[in-house]
Amino acid sequence: MATSLVQQKEIWNHILAKVREVLKNDIHLYQSFFADTSLYSIENDLMTILVSSPVCKQFLQQEDQQGYKILINVVTDVMESNYRLAFITQDEINQDDNKTKKEPKKSTFFANSVLNPKYTFDNFVSGNCNKEAIQASLLIATNPGVTYNPLFVYSKPGLGKTHLLHALGNYYKEKYPGKKVQYISTDNFVNEFVNYLNGNQASENFKDFFETIDLLLVDDIQMLQNKKATCDLFFTIFNQLVNSGRQIVLTSDRAPSELQGLEERLVSRFNMGLSIPMHTPDTETMLRILEKKIVSNQLNVSNFDPDGLMYLAQNFSKNVRDLEGALNRVIFYTINFKHMARIDLETIKESVQPMLKQKKGVNLTEEDIIEEVASYYNMTDSQITSKVRTSQIALARRIAMYLCREMLDTPYLKIGKIFGGRDHSTVITAVLKVETELKTDTQMQSAISAIKKRLKK
Ligand code: ADP
Ligand code: MG
Repeated sequence: MATSLVQQKEIWNHILAKVREVLKNDIHLYQSFFADTSLYSIENDLMTILVSSPVCKQFLQQEDQQGYKILINVVTDVMESNYRLAFITQDEINQDDNKTKKEPKKSTFFANSVLNPKYTFDNFVSGNCNKEAIQASLLIATNPGVTYNPLFVYSKPGLGKTHLLHALGNYYKEKYPGKKVQYISTDNFVNEFVNYLNGNQASENFKDFFETIDLLLVDDIQMLQNKKATCDLFFTIFNQLVNSGRQIVLTSDRAPSELQGLEERLVSRFNMGLSIPMHTPDTETMLRILEKKIVSNQLNVSNFDPDGLMYLAQNFSKNVRDLEGALNRVIFYTINFKHMARIDLETIKESVQPMLKQKKGVNLTEEDIIEEVASYYNMTDSQITSKVRTSQIALARRIAMYLCREMLDTPYLKIGKIFGGRDHSTVITAVLKVETELKTDTQMQSAISAIKKRLKK
């Protein structure tokens, strides 16, 4: 979903504040290169940052340099998601504007849905948890459209579905340079379709666009649930591709039979191919994933205490994204605060402690928080998670979102889902607003401390 300008501004201010904190002992660096940057756009996983000069761009865009490393770490930390960073100067924007003025822009669908070259089979660690999914992906890549169509891969979040789709796309593209592969997230599909219906891209036909695709990769198909018009369109496109021997790969957070609010005819089409689950990796696989991630950060595995790596693999054993987040925190912490060559168990424990504290916290759930906030404000739970925007309900909702973050460290994306399908930027903005107001608003301070007290009972 598109991020509004106000949201972008708030997110960027938050990111800059963190960068400033990291660079507090080198404030000149912050002032020269970061202070007057701004967020130009967020499109899917691409963040484009407006910088003040070509020199600044040069400094920030080099992936092996400090500026880029600090920024990417802070962005990943704040957004809780992996983003690619691009940098642009005002001159480049002006040039682009001139170009678009001269040749009227040809509209293209999914212009920003590109394959991420960083996700490959080479850096996708194979284990019992995912071996079959990798085999099936390779099988269909070598024999597209004829064996299993569609291939349907499902797992809990953070276990590599998106990585696998991109790896498959990259592999296919290399193998068949003349063929067209398209990756799309279902969210993106829904948005583009809505845009199309609103007449924003009238010159092209949405269905025709798919005619040219040989391999279609659709991520998070569960997002189609309860979207009737988009489902109908997807059904048509799906049939059109499969009937003409083009390959489709779908991912989902649940098995086809568990998809609710999706028409039976679509689910039965999904079942015509092959469905494969991916599971949580065992400790040995988690350790191998950690090693791969260390190497891809251009660091040396031998600089990490093996007990420390085992500690990470065992404590972040449910979700590879969390494991990666923990490793990033260790790296960030040691580079910026410790300056140590060998990273020992104690340092590893120390750096991930805040993440674990929240994980292990009381047995509290998001539902408990919603219930308590609702009762404090004399509302119903469903008012809190509804779309209603009256100021009192919106305030209670913001506080509930803030408490989910603060007490449970619930990912923004999940909060968005729980609170009526709001997008991730809206949640970040709401949480930041409460954080800011809490500094001065005594009424809010006492409301939050009263709710917390009741929750801790
Ligand atoms: P999902 O789409 O299932 O939520 P992702 O594909 O986004 O999960 O994976 C989350 C992170 O974990 C990514 O950075 C990805 O590279 C990493 N990851 C997951 N599984 C593996 C694996 N088997 N090998 C290497 N990295 C992995
Ligand atoms: Mg994914």
